[in-house]
Amino acid sequence: MSLKFYNTATRTKEDFIPIDSNNVRMYVCGPTVYDFIHIGNARPIVVFDVLYRLLKTHYDKVTYVRNITDVDDKINARALEKGISIGELTTQTTQQFLNDADALGSLRPDVQPKATEYIENMVSMIEILIEKGHAYEAQGHVLFRTASWQDYGAFANKDRDEQIAGARVEVASYKEDPADFVLWKPSDDGEPAWQSPWSKGRPGWHIECSAMAKAHLGDSFDIHGGGLDLIFPHHQNEIAQSCCANGKDFAKYWMHNGFLNSEGEKMSKSLGNFYTVRELLDDGYHGECLRLVNLMTHYRQPLDFSKSKLSDSKKILDKFYKALHSVDDVKCKDGIVNTDVRNALGDDLNTHLAITKLFELLKQKSQMDAGDFKAQLLDGLYLLGIGQDTNWHTLKTTDIDGASVENLIMQRRDAKARKDYATADQIRDQLLDMGVTIKDMPNGETEWDVLS
Ligand code: AMP
Ligand code: ZN
Repeated sequence: MSLKFYNTATRTKEDFIPIDSNNVRMYVCGPTVYDFIHIGNARPIVVFDVLYRLLKTHYDKVTYVRNITDVDDKINARALEKGISIGELTTQTTQQFLNDADALGSLRPDVQPKATEYIENMVSMIEILIEKGHAYEAQGHVLFRTASWQDYGAFANKDRDEQIAGARVEVASYKEDPADFVLWKPSDDGEPAWQSPWSKGRPGWHIECSAMAKAHLGDSFDIHGGGLDLIFPHHQNEIAQSCCANGKDFAKYWMHNGFLNSEGEKMSKSLGNFYTVRELLDDGYHGECLRLVNLMTHYRQPLDFSKSKLSDSKKILDKFYKALHSVDDVKCKDGIVNTDVRNALGDDLNTHLAITKLFELLKQKSQMDAGDFKAQLLDGLYLLGIGQDTNWHTLKTTDIDGASVENLIMQRRDAKARKDYATADQIRDQLLDMGVTIKDMPNGETEWDVLS
């Protein structure tokens, strides 16, 4: 069974051939820890977790590194605003991030390096870049000399004007070229600072990932991932730094998730469509619902998030859990995997097709050997990272008040009779929330059942 992934570097879907099949290595840019993550940030967590799970089924050893950026100007500003120390803020926020990533059902990466623990590695990399003429010091800053590397801009397909716009930092008189980007900068009093040959200062953002990737994965590794917004300048700059410092190729395959919009628009606090993962969890949405919303759309497509999609995903998950519980007492058949799901995921992580294949499996249940069915269901669900909560539904038939269920069913029948379908649907959802599914029969009766 082969794996194919879309490689941003070549803009084509390619066969995945690892550099060393005894240790497949991947790096994903992690969060800057200054606040709760929002639902857009959840997307790379979920997408690359599915990739990690898939790779682990193909290779004995996979090393997954996802960094924590704990030095950044946004962090300094937020700590000041909150009147707490930078260390306090980053420790708190890192823990919140880990809790949210766990709730999304993602496996912990093998290594989660913190940028502040790799300053020495960054300093040595910068020294090498200066020595080789790819970087220069100016007024306590060190800048990457973009003109020194002819491939600069090629990965992101950016012309010179776009490169300059991407250099973000204000036009500074000490830059040789406006497209040059910062590797090191001096710190003011109160800002985090480390000794270096150039100034008491701190690293630029891009060099962090180059240094941490090298420390854990070596000069060249297999997969580098992150959101689409990181292609330029962040990933372009990582490539420039690493290739120039190490004199080797950097990542072989580059994978980027598309952007998430919320309720039809770009997420923004003023539009009221900005949700953190934490507030949705606190509102009672299960982490697997957030996860499933992500899996229903291909990772490279834009994803339109909405609360109604969260409710829909709860209904889908209920079906999977019901199927799982129906085989509680069945012994899993050994050596059986879900080839359909594995093939779908192996074709550039087609999670939507994988879910469709799981539904087909549910339909085939009655014609299948129960142990075979259970093995295929478990394998497919595990790869997608859903159906993993053993406490999903603890309701027992005896916990449900039959009279109130009948009463709601009657209200729903009345609503349908007066063509008030919105109310009828609302009642169906209310029943689902109580753990009750209903089925309209051809004779006009409505049967109900308890989710088990
Ligand atoms: P940040 O903390 O902003 O650097 O983002 C962490 C990760 O989330 C990066 O991989 C971003 O590309 C990704 N990300 C941020 N916003 C969104 C969004 N709206 N949709 C999808 N991915 C996003
Ligand atoms: Zn990065």
